[in-house]
Amino acid sequence: MSERFNVADIFGEDVFNDTVMQERLPKKVYKDLKKTIEEGKELDLATADVIAHEMKEWAIEKGATHYTRWFQPLTGVTAEKHDSFISAPLPSGKVLMSFSGKELIKGEPDASSFPSGGLRATFEARGYTAWDCTSPAFVRHDAAGATLCIPTAFCSYKGEALDQKTPLLRSMQAINEQSLRLLRLFGNTTSKKVTPSVGPEQEYFLVDADKFLQRKDLIYTGRTLFGAMPPKGQELDDHYFGTIRQRIAGFMKDVNEELWKVGVTSKTQHNEVAPAQHELAPIYAECNVALDHNHIVMQTLKRVACQHGMKCLLHEKPFAGVNGSGKHDNWSLTTDDGKNLLEPGKTPHENIQFLLVLTCILKAVDTHADLLRESAADPGNDHRLGANEAPPAIISVFLGEQLEDVLEQLISTGEATHSLKGGKLQTGVDTLPDLAKDATDRNRTSPFAFTGNKFEFRMVGSRDSISGPNVVLNTIVAEAFSEACDVLEKADNFDEAVHDLIKKYATEHQRVVFDGNGYSDAWVEEAERRGLPNIKSMVEAIPALTTDKAINLFEKYKVFTKAELESRAEIKYENYSKAINIEARTMIDIATKQIIPAVIKYTKELADTINAVKAAGADVSVQSELLTEISALLVESKSALKALTEVTEKAAEMEKRFRKAEFTFNDYLDSMSQMKKMGGFANVLSMMPGIG
Ligand code: ADP
Ligand code: MG
Repeated sequence: MSERFNVADIFGEDVFNDTVMQERLPKKVYKDLKKTIEEGKELDLATADVIAHEMKEWAIEKGATHYTRWFQPLTGVTAEKHDSFISAPLPSGKVLMSFSGKELIKGEPDASSFPSGGLRATFEARGYTAWDCTSPAFVRHDAAGATLCIPTAFCSYKGEALDQKTPLLRSMQAINEQSLRLLRLFGNTTSKKVTPSVGPEQEYFLVDADKFLQRKDLIYTGRTLFGAMPPKGQELDDHYFGTIRQRIAGFMKDVNEELWKVGVTSKTQHNEVAPAQHELAPIYAECNVALDHNHIVMQTLKRVACQHGMKCLLHEKPFAGVNGSGKHDNWSLTTDDGKNLLEPGKTPHENIQFLLVLTCILKAVDTHADLLRESAADPGNDHRLGANEAPPAIISVFLGEQLEDVLEQLISTGEATHSLKGGKLQTGVDTLPDLAKDATDRNRTSPFAFTGNKFEFRMVGSRDSISGPNVVLNTIVAEAFSEACDVLEKADNFDEAVHDLIKKYATEHQRVVFDGNGYSDAWVEEAERRGLPNIKSMVEAIPALTTDKAINLFEKYKVFTKAELESRAEIKYENYSKAINIEARTMIDIATKQIIPAVIKYTKELADTINAVKAAGADVSVQSELLTEISALLVESKSALKALTEVTEKAAEMEKRFRKAEFTFNDYLDSMSQMKKMGGFANVLSMMPGIG
């Protein structure tokens, strides 16, 4: 890696971006491709051939030997199959490098080994990957050399979505259409397109690779299943924003360089709350590009960590007793001519369009709180949400003083006449400048917080794809916009109608607004009084996908069919049960092969000591007491292990039912937590490498 570089020079150097396309493609081809990217016009094969040829030439200049369609099946990670550019040898024995338009646009990977949730029987193996030209291709440099990566969508033979990208693109169409309808009502005739802007902040842990390799639980499950707390955790709050240690700084430098080259706008880096926890945030981008970039970020973090002798943990809760990791999904709506629909302006009470957008979002979030909650559910996040470090499992919206006050005025008097002002912040130090204060404070405990000109959905898991949450956000807001437009397009007096509608939505959905402490027990009780759902676990969240409400919503806006929703629910149950199953088997393995033998060895040491000390005529009461205690714990542990082994075997037998989550997960989780008592061997465990 180069020692010094100029960011502006390297930024995007490995991306087939607009500049490259403009330089390399014939004018007509460039224009046609832009039309496809911007307006969704179909691309003909002759044009695709020209693009493919130029893309290949460009990639080869970057050193690429292979290309891959890069897609996002429902495994949670990305998938790729590499093909080299070589074609059949010529009579001379030489090869040519080729890449056709057909190869660029469409691929047919065998889809039978990807999760389909019953959408596709195994004998119907065919799946299709289709080029997503709205997300630029790029060349990735790694141990494989250089590979041209082409972002693609992945569907079944019958066109059902088998990936994370297809529904996201569909939901972007829905929100575009409905946002434009809304803008037209307010006299906007110039904006041609509205896209969700998304900036995901990514949290992660870094641990030393050698230490990581001593922990089977980290290797197999991504989190520690046993262990004792170290004497110092995060109680001093000295890690958050702390000075970045040199080893980590070196890692961050390389991550940034790699990300910038492939056009990812890595912007912010800092230490997070827990020891060894960090964050990276890019500058926000169009939703589908942000999705692809977030995958690139996660992969780059992992790859560069290995190069630095470390492991990057993206699990939501790698360690008990300190904070886990999430991903904050910052979301707003931007027009092609640069207007943000979530920008309140200085006097939000006069900004009628903003107030309509805002109250529509309140309505959407209140109506579909269950779907939003589900979109943040993954097995790891069950350990995080509602655990006083992450937002509670209850969905509520934080608006801040200023907007809450405007809504309050609307609801109580029917008229909003003023907006609270920020004023000046006085530091009391003459040499420090007075700061202009925001009209609104922040709230760290809210799952869905308005932060100036965007919403920040703070529930998303650190490992999870941001597709799910944004599919839900885009679609539920599209529905709310559409329903508002249905009313307003028919109104005789627009001003009056819009005023009434804002007041109606504010009143009906005020219950979802909460600006207090989301971590408190009082809020849990208050939320229950307000009738807000409190969905505590992933298994309880999944059914939200297949309610009549959800099916109507997603079918109406052509984001998912009923069959696709059912398949996704099926896949989620399966993923959940498999994750828990792997954790249980890992616990059994560690307990059987590492902990119990170590404890037995220790009891022998104690017994030998007792005999020797007794023979020497000294007091052995402490050693005896320890031996009795540990032997009792050993008996308990052995029976917990037996119980967990039985439950795990039963789960394997009942795979079908288990998948449907009819199996009582609680039995499973209970016996796993019984096993955790082995943490009571802290004194023994801390003598074992990697466990203490
Ligand atoms: P925080 O103070 O919340 O930790 P960060 O700077 O870490 O803020 O991250 C904020 C994220 O929100 C960044 O990715 C940023 O680009 C993104 N963001 C800023 N404005 C918008 C917007 N209008 N729409 C969507 N995302 C935005
Ligand atoms: Mg941040």
